[in-house]
Amino acid sequence: MYEGAVQNLIDELGRLPGVGPKSAQRIAFHLLAAETADVKRLVHALVEVKERVRFCAVCGNVAEESECRICRDPRRDTAVICVVEESKDVVAIERTREFRGRYHVLGGAISPIEGIGPDDLRIKDLMTRLSDGQITELILATDPNLEGEATATYLARLVKPLGMKVTRLASGLPVGGDLEYADEVTLGRAFEGRRSLEF
Ligand SMILES: [Zn+2]
Repeated sequence: MYEGAVQNLIDELGRLPGVGPKSAQRIAFHLLAAETADVKRLVHALVEVKERVRFCAVCGNVAEESECRICRDPRRDTAVICVVEESKDVVAIERTREFRGRYHVLGGAISPIEGIGPDDLRIKDLMTRLSDGQITELILATDPNLEGEATATYLARLVKPLGMKVTRLASGLPVGGDLEYADEVTLGRAFEGRRSLEF
């Protein structure tokens, strides 16, 4: 245990995902030794992200205006929606340059163990988006793990009455993993080889 402010910083850093006690201590002492101007820049970035960034009113992706960059882009195909769990998945798919439609960010996946049900995700918003009949294909790009598969199955059954084409990314993605960890080529191929889901 350190005194006051240093321990305080270590405790706060230790609450971040992936930062264990040792890393928290290392970062704290790095900041302690850093130039004041550098630390102020970091503080500014932290405050700014909370003040400026919000979630897109259409798709739920991170945005700096009421709609995100992708939803505002008139060149994007409005007839195809790709459903993902998190904004980081949007970034991963954008990197492949395979997809020119728009997204829908659920904010997670169905997980009974963690107590996350359909009502905790942006599924109602998705259904509203689909209700105007303009969407021809819904791509389910949830993670290739248990929760992601369960969520894709749930959604496929839910939207079946709407009669649109529902596809799932092709196998070849690392099973049990996160979409964001797949390399661009693998993810791009999975996109190209997506298959229709029938229920
Ligand atoms: Zn958006």
